[in-house]
Amino acid sequence: MEQFDHARVAVFRGTLAAALMTFMLGGCATTGINKGQMNIISSDEEVKMGQEMSVEVAKQYKVYDNTAVTAYVQGVGDRIARVCDRQEITYHIAVVDKNEVNAFALPGGYVYVYTGLMKDIDDEAQLASVIAHEIAHVTARHAAERLTKMYGTEFFLGLVFGKNPGLLGKIVKDIGTPIGFLAFSRADEYEADDLGARYLSAAGYDPNGMVDLLGKLKGLEKSEPGKFETWLMTHPSTSERLARVEANVAALPKSASPVRNAAAYAKIKAQLPK
Ligand code: ZN
Repeated sequence: MEQFDHARVAVFRGTLAAALMTFMLGGCATTGINKGQMNIISSDEEVKMGQEMSVEVAKQYKVYDNTAVTAYVQGVGDRIARVCDRQEITYHIAVVDKNEVNAFALPGGYVYVYTGLMKDIDDEAQLASVIAHEIAHVTARHAAERLTKMYGTEFFLGLVFGKNPGLLGKIVKDIGTPIGFLAFSRADEYEADDLGARYLSAAGYDPNGMVDLLGKLKGLEKSEPGKFETWLMTHPSTSERLARVEANVAALPKSASPVRNAAAYAKIKAQLPK
C-alpha cells in the first residue's frame, strides 16, 4: 500500500513537472507571470465564466456587429494569441460601440475594444498594442484572480454554475465603470503593459505602436477629458506607463520589417459608426 502511494506521488510529481514544462514551453519565455496567483479555479472553469459573462456583455453593451471590422480585430487578436503565454484557450475579440477610450478583457479570453478608442488609433500596430495588453491580462489571469479574491472560490464557482445570475449581470454592468472588478491593480496594469509589448514584438508588429498610442492618448486626455473618465480612474497615469513602455520597447529585439499596416487600418476605421 505504501509502495502504491509512493508510486502515486511519483506519478503526480511527474505530471506536475510535465505540466510546468508545458507551461514554460507553451509560449515565448515566461518569467514572473502569475506571481502570487492563487490558482484555485481551473482554466476550464475560467473559460466557462468568461463565456457566461460574454453573453451578459452582449445584452448590456452595444457590441458593434460589422463583419469586416470584427474579422479584422479578430485577425489581430489571433496573431497576438499565437505568441502569447497561454495558448490553450481561444481568444475572442469584439468591438463595443461607445465613444469612450476603453478596452477590457473578461476571464477566459474575451476581449472588447471601444469604438471611441479605435477612432483615436492610427494603425494596426497601435490597435495590436491594445489587444496585446488585454490578452496579457488574460494570460496572467488577472480577472480570475481578482474575482476569486473578491468573492472566494466557492462563490466564484457558484457563479460559474449559474447559482447567482443576478450578481454575474451586475459584475458585467460594472465593467464599464471605475468601480468595476476590472479596475485592476497598478501592478497588474504594468504587468499587462510589459507582457503586451513583448507579445507585440513577437507577433512581428512594431512595438513602438504601443509607445505612439500612449503618447497620443496622453495628449488627448487634456483635450477630450470626457472620453477618458473610466480609463484614467482604472489605469496608472499615462505618463508613467509611457515611460515604462518606452524603456521596455527599447530593449526588445528589433524585427527587420515591423508591421504598422496604416492603410489597412484606415479602411477599417472608415467603417466604424459615427
Ligand atoms: Zn489593463
